[in-house]
Amino acid sequence: MKHSSLLLTGGCGFIGSNFILESLERSPNLHIVNLDALTYAGNPANLVSLEGHKRYHLQQGHIGDAKLVSSLLEKYQVDAVVNFAAESHVDRSIENPASFIETNVLETNHLLHSSFKYFEHLTKEQQAVFRFLHISTDEVFGTLSSESDAFNEETSFSPNSPYAASKAASDHIVRAYHHTFGLPVVTTNCSNNYGPFQFPEKLIPLMIANAIEGKPLPIYGDGSNIRDWLYVRDHTSAIAAVLENGTVGETYCVGGDSEKDNLTVVKTICSILDRVHPKQKGSYTEQITFVRDRPGHDFRYAIDASKLKTELNWLPKVSFEEGIEETVLWYLSNQEWSLNIHENTYQRQRLGNI
Ligand code: NAD
Repeated sequence: MKHSSLLLTGGCGFIGSNFILESLERSPNLHIVNLDALTYAGNPANLVSLEGHKRYHLQQGHIGDAKLVSSLLEKYQVDAVVNFAAESHVDRSIENPASFIETNVLETNHLLHSSFKYFEHLTKEQQAVFRFLHISTDEVFGTLSSESDAFNEETSFSPNSPYAASKAASDHIVRAYHHTFGLPVVTTNCSNNYGPFQFPEKLIPLMIANAIEGKPLPIYGDGSNIRDWLYVRDHTSAIAAVLENGTVGETYCVGGDSEKDNLTVVKTICSILDRVHPKQKGSYTEQITFVRDRPGHDFRYAIDASKLKTELNWLPKVSFEEGIEETVLWYLSNQEWSLNIHENTYQRQRLGNI
């Protein structure tokens, strides 16, 4: 890797923790400082295997804390900031939009400002290497009909949920720091991820956990909403490629070319569980229930990732069929991880922290 010292934010979340584990293994000289506020979604247990690791440091704190961010940038002589930190769950954004504006918009601006102040005082050689990589979502583009072409880097923003709107705003601010101040930024807009360490409020881990516990498998509406699913380690390899070789000021769409409607995803999980963890009687599909649709629910997301493929030679390696099987098996063998999350969240709820 070109970079030797990353300030990575939100690294105790789902995608950030996968990125940290993979990057430290792949790059023997890389140091990572992980700045994470440890909200309900931040789980240090994702990175327990790094305890005592010489090239990894966890710092609890907010990306909006300018003093802390500046001190970390200086202390670790950071040569790239990779911003995963965000409030990330659409349903929570419908319940409480303000916290999404606070973190995803205002705090991201503070992080950019602190990064720019640090960047200004680097030497020309250091500035040439420095990057601010912002991790964003395809939800900024809005929704597609069944017939529409997939989103690409030219698609206009048309965010529909408070989550998507807050991410779209952050993408614009990132772009402005490049255009106005010359901060070397790159942005990725990725489709839905799945895989190990995903907080069990999101569709796939929620369905696996509920299925095993014999609970209903609640599907919004009629289950026809479509997402383009990408295995998390394919997303992290795309992020690494963009960090290394992405063009400054550009955005890259990341997707798995793997569109599935929600009902198909849940039925696939059920059929894997029927095979590898059968119930005493009947099939897991009997637990499927349909619930009132999410307000403003986007119908379809799909990504055209050809820019990333042609410019940076990136290809997803894991098919949906392989990835979903691996994911179900991972959650089956890590039930204690999910259980601990439920217990910690319950504790924090009691303390009024979430
Ligand atoms: P996540 O919710 O699992 O993790 C978010 C992490 O950010 C948590 O560890 C949390 O503690 C931390 N955090 C929250 N607010 C913070 C703050 N103010 N300061 C420091 N840390 C803070 O999220 P994820 O699914 O890993 O997503 C990571 C990024 O990728 C997000 O920006 C998200 O918008 C984007 N993204 C996610 C997906 C997906 O399918 N999960 C797809 C495309 C893009």
